[in-house]
Amino acid sequence: MSTAIVWMRNDLRLADNPALFTAAGSHRFVAPVVIVSPEGADDWAPGSASRAWQLRSLAALGERIEALGGTLTVLTGPAAEAVVGCAQAIGADAVYWNRRYEPSHVAVDEIVQRRLESAGIAVHVLPGSLLVEPDVLTTQSGGAYKVFTPFFNAALRTAESLPLPAPERILAPPTLPRGVPLAALPPRSGDVPDIDRLWTPGEVGAETTAGRFFSEIVDDYERTRERPDIDGTSRLSPHIAFGEISPRTLKALAEKVVRCNGECHVSEDAAAFTRQLFWRDFAYHLLHHYPHTPELPLRRGFDVFPWSRDPDALNAWREGMTGFPIVDAGMRQMLATGWMHNRVRMLVASLLTKDLLLPWTEGSRWFWERLVDADLANNTFGWQWVAGSGADAAPYFRIFNPVIQGERFDPDGAYVKQWVPELEGMPPGWVHRPWSAPTSVLAAAGVTLGRTYPHPIVDHAAARLRALAVYGSIRNAGR
Ligand SMILES: Cc1cc2nc3c(=O)[nH]c(=O)nc-3n(C[C@H](O)[C@H](O)[C@H](O)COP(=O)(O)OP(=O)(O)OC[C@H]3O[C@@H](n4cnc5c(N)ncnc54)[C@H](O)[C@@H]3O)c2cc1C
Repeated sequence: MSTAIVWMRNDLRLADNPALFTAAGSHRFVAPVVIVSPEGADDWAPGSASRAWQLRSLAALGERIEALGGTLTVLTGPAAEAVVGCAQAIGADAVYWNRRYEPSHVAVDEIVQRRLESAGIAVHVLPGSLLVEPDVLTTQSGGAYKVFTPFFNAALRTAESLPLPAPERILAPPTLPRGVPLAALPPRSGDVPDIDRLWTPGEVGAETTAGRFFSEIVDDYERTRERPDIDGTSRLSPHIAFGEISPRTLKALAEKVVRCNGECHVSEDAAAFTRQLFWRDFAYHLLHHYPHTPELPLRRGFDVFPWSRDPDALNAWREGMTGFPIVDAGMRQMLATGWMHNRVRMLVASLLTKDLLLPWTEGSRWFWERLVDADLANNTFGWQWVAGSGADAAPYFRIFNPVIQGERFDPDGAYVKQWVPELEGMPPGWVHRPWSAPTSVLAAAGVTLGRTYPHPIVDHAAARLRALAVYGSIRNAGR
């Protein structure tokens, strides 16, 4: 009659969930438990958009667990008291969870594990969220990888891709502690995107999104994935961040996209998608080996970088009012939907850190607050990559030109016009640089710079030279 708890966190799924699968196969009764707002995760507790997603995802998970005969119990922290108290209340012999890698979670998990073990309750920690655990691969000299390609080659050889099935039954123990109804959990203050209209949080939504990607989008992924004006990527990131679908499941699905031309092989588009999943693993590898990086540069030479302080510029950037159309479109897409296209994430980050010389941590914090896919490893990695302070980072002289990038990746200006409706009437040749358009073009489009749409917040050419000088002074520092 053994009983187990499965402590669920960013693994809000039934399929390919090692902790749930193993517990369900080894114990008669299984109690899946979620703890909202555990201590220790305070600094990087979900932002308002993620919290809104999380509450919906938990509701979806609860329904799925019920359909298998179980009950999802939602408790509030501190985690050690909640897990140990629940385990003792239901007479659990064991507690299972899938491993987390974020520094604050690692610290809490150690405390919970110690408390459980000293109460005589077995703890089983399983790997469940990555293709390759972050401590498995080392370079020839025994250290962490700092360059993606060798990491990728090693990871590809090591990663498994046989997802586990969902458990057939989850039998709830006869008694369970009274959990907190999800409706009683307050959302975090702050504006949130209209998630219910735009997204379907939960495992079913993740599976549907993946199904659509592999049937309608993947065949053109390599050609379209850099284009924000085209629906050319999977948009699975929030589902992956909450663990509603596992990377292993996605890798296995990608491996089924086969092209035969005499011989059969995995399609290059599907392989390119799998490669993106390994960028996520790389970000976790770096977070594991450099746990200070959400707050501090990986390359310590950047500790002395002379970042500017300009609250007005920061605010204009946050609200999508910089006067650079592709940047404003991206920032507004994030505010409206909780998601931003990867190419545009790079452009907005470059404008903040290079043109405005504002600290990348201001950007990562704002993203954290507003993204439904906020993920500490990916967000930290992306910001440090653009800022130049991270591993395998963009070279210091790569300063994205928002006009050239806009014209290249949004050639008709469709993406800009979707998110910056003030520029709806601008012809494609001018939509990415309205400040250089002839007065007659502006008048015909109903645009008055400084009134209906801002003047550019900086002169990009001058800002670029300034950034080159500042960056050049600390070039290669801290390698
Ligand atoms: C400044 C900056 C901040 C970012 N912050 C986040 C974040 O908080 N959360 C997040 O999930 N991603 C983040 N990314 C990475 C990337 O932009 C998103 O993963 C991607 O846009 C999600 O869209 P998609 O699911 O359609 O991607 P697809 O192209 O369909 O890729 C599939 C999956 O691969 C992973 N992936 C793709 N690109 C990257 C990448 N560059 N780095 C790591 N993993 C990747 C993601 O899990 C993604 O869902 C950030 C990138 C930058 C430049």
